[in-house]
Amino acid sequence: MSWLSPASGSPGAAPEPFNLQQQLGRRPRLLIVDDQPANIQALYQVFAQDHQVFMATSGAQALQLCRDKQPDLLLLDIQMPGMDGYEVCRQIKADPELAALPVVFVTAHSDAEAETRGLDMGAVDFISKPFSPAVVRARVRAHLTLKVQSDLLRELVFVDGLTGVYNRRHFDERLAREFQRARRQGSSLALMMIDVDYFKRFNDRYGHLAGDDGLRRVAATLKAQLKRPADLLSRFGGEEFACVLPDTELPGALALADEMGAAVQALGIAHADSDVAPCLTISIGVAALRPHGTLGPSELVVAADEQLYLAKSGGRRRASGITL
Ligand code: GH3
Ligand code: MG
Ligand code: MG
Repeated sequence: MSWLSPASGSPGAAPEPFNLQQQLGRRPRLLIVDDQPANIQALYQVFAQDHQVFMATSGAQALQLCRDKQPDLLLLDIQMPGMDGYEVCRQIKADPELAALPVVFVTAHSDAEAETRGLDMGAVDFISKPFSPAVVRARVRAHLTLKVQSDLLRELVFVDGLTGVYNRRHFDERLAREFQRARRQGSSLALMMIDVDYFKRFNDRYGHLAGDDGLRRVAATLKAQLKRPADLLSRFGGEEFACVLPDTELPGALALADEMGAAVQALGIAHADSDVAPCLTISIGVAALRPHGTLGPSELVVAADEQLYLAKSGGRRRASGITL
């Protein structure tokens, strides 16, 4: 048999249908927003069985529930007293935390102008009342599928497959953004470069799979030491990690570096061939600055790398830092 022949199925066989609930690991969460409880009730009947349904009767309540319950999709009435549906949609799309949430307008007024306005504001669809339950269900399912698939893609693009922390691509983007922000605000930005000590010897002695497992545990431990939501840990490459710390001066970054070093050592992952400890350890280089002159993100990376080199040459299992 040729090794080119397909292992299973025939070419052109229909792909498996996308299983939403399996992919999410839970029932999809819907938020229904309408000032008329009877309208909410009608939609609730359509979705209650296989969705987790949240309900809001005002725009303000809807925005609060979006933050608290993190729905996967919003069914939003347009005409409501106070904050109308357009305004709710505008605020959602303007908030980076919520912007990816698909908004479907449900309304009695289905003129082209209202529909265009809603779609222009970032809504994904428009459903007119009175609606057919089967059509509403099918449309919501289609939009949920797109949402879950795009979340998955985003994760593949920005997350390192081995360790589950952010990858180099995401690091580069975030560092550039945080650098600009620090320049704008005149705040201090710190960068850590973290490297596992004698990791080649670790692989040589314990095998590459044990090495991979060690990297996963180190990554999880480093991440657990972060204290602020804006702090970012990523895998820079190989056995190196990088950490971006907005609004942080050198002393604060060095204190965190010490905690990270201690936490990794406390894992107690045996490393009989290390010259510095009987277990896996890390070295850390730190650079901090308030952006000035022509200094850019790459100078910060180079400086943190030089500090990492100093930590290595100074004996490893330590941190070294500089303010630029
Ligand atoms: P130093 O203390 O100077 O950092 O020594 P080192 O051995 O850690 O440094 P070196 O750069 O010579 O070796 C890094 C090693 O990391 C080489 C490579 O085998 C290992 N490594 C890089 N990426 C991976 C990975 O994804 N999985 C595993 N298991 N090992 C990796
Ligand atoms: Mg290295
Ligand atoms: Mg190393």
